[in-house]
Amino acid sequence: MGDKFNHIVEKVLSSVDFDVDGVVFEVTNDNLKSQMGANRKFHRWQIAFKENKDKAQVKVLSVTPQVGRTGKITPVAELEPTLLSGATIVRATGHHYGLVKEQGLGAGSVIELTRSGLVIPKINQVLKSAPVDIPASCPSCGEILEWESDFLMCLNHANCPAQVIGKMEYFFKILANNDGFGVATIEKLYAHGVRKVSQIYALNADDLSVMGFGEKTSVNLVNQLRRSSSEKIEDWRFLAAFGVVRMGTGNCENLLKSYELNTIFDLNLEQVSDIDGFAELTAKMIISGLRSIKSEFDLLSQYRFNLELTPLKKKLPDFSHSLGGKKIIFTGKMNSPREEMKKHAKSIGIQVVSSVSAKTDYLVIGEKVGKKKIESAEKLGVEILNELDYLALIK
Ligand SMILES: [Zn+2]
Repeated sequence: MGDKFNHIVEKVLSSVDFDVDGVVFEVTNDNLKSQMGANRKFHRWQIAFKENKDKAQVKVLSVTPQVGRTGKITPVAELEPTLLSGATIVRATGHHYGLVKEQGLGAGSVIELTRSGLVIPKINQVLKSAPVDIPASCPSCGEILEWESDFLMCLNHANCPAQVIGKMEYFFKILANNDGFGVATIEKLYAHGVRKVSQIYALNADDLSVMGFGEKTSVNLVNQLRRSSSEKIEDWRFLAAFGVVRMGTGNCENLLKSYELNTIFDLNLEQVSDIDGFAELTAKMIISGLRSIKSEFDLLSQYRFNLELTPLKKKLPDFSHSLGGKKIIFTGKMNSPREEMKKHAKSIGIQVVSSVSAKTDYLVIGEKVGKKKIESAEKLGVEILNELDYLALIK
């Protein structure tokens, strides 16, 4: 039905020789018409279909692979120039190479483009396929590419020039408090042996001049570096700038709400996956990602970035438990370690107090509790539980 509908609309639109922005459909059967009737605003038997001008069918001239900082290869399609919502589009990217393989995104194919806020729009779908060209090796380093589900990847993360350059560029982009470290500068630094952000921070103006930067530019770049480390910056932004997979700004902030920056490298899998919002796979990737950036993190820490620490989220007691908010005293020798019992009680919202008063709800008694203590509690109307009663109650 959908295909037929599109076909009908196309046919109508192409049968007139003036610009129209849509088609109106009407029920032509008079009986049906009178049955459908009308409300105050419109006839129910008539509907307008507006052609979406923010969409266009575009012919692909060629597809070239582009290597991202994580090693993901992205198909970039050069297009027949197309006017789309006021801008002429000449290039679009596909989400992954699976699109090329599955849908036939090749030279001569026709794609559908939708208006988006991006400078380079994304390809929605391939309408007419063409023979495709899937690169066997990385266009940047020559490494044989591997498929990871729909993604074609260069796994030479440490030495692939495109990835090394992309990572350094990403750091300054995420920090967002400096100028001058765009791709052109980073590529020039790379050509002179710079491979890590920590090496960039170690440069002085003379080093930069030797690399071929102008005198003024060299001084300016060094000033930008100083500024980027002295200006106040959120710790989650700094951490996200390292570009670990699954450690974008949102996840970094979430992590640092639970643990301080100087403790995160010691976290274990359980601690990270216990944080709300982190599934186990994400937690695993965070742990291994943190391990991979540890030495670079330590090197950069020498430059004393002015980090604003994320306030730790206070763990609120869970008052959904039936004993939440109740005041309880533990006394006497228990079978379970007393400290453990107290800790658990607090975790479910119980207030553990140390002396009996009329406001106390329960006195939990172990062995060898003085008669006097029990009597005074009874007098105040405090309910008395033995350890087993209590354990049954909190279950
Ligand atoms: Zn590569």
